[in-house]
Amino acid sequence: MMNSSDNDHNRTIQQKGTFFCFKCEHSGHFSQDWLKICDDSGCSIVCPNCGVKIDQRTVQDPLAPAEAD
Ligand SMILES: [Zn+2]
Repeated sequence: MMNSSDNDHNRTIQQKGTFFCFKCEHSGHFSQDWLKICDDSGCSIVCPNCGVKIDQRTVQDPLAPAEAD
């Protein structure tokens, strides 16, 4: 049910863009189930599991490159 379209390579390796929740230990790539909360100061990543806000300042590209609607 939660299958992603990206299943080609390095899926088990922690790579750039992968977040880790210090509270519940949920981990996953940015493009997965993390919540993106944006405001005037930027975007934050919120854990979908426990709701804690993850500091995303360690990530250079917090937003997906293409998000057209
Ligand atoms: Zn969490």
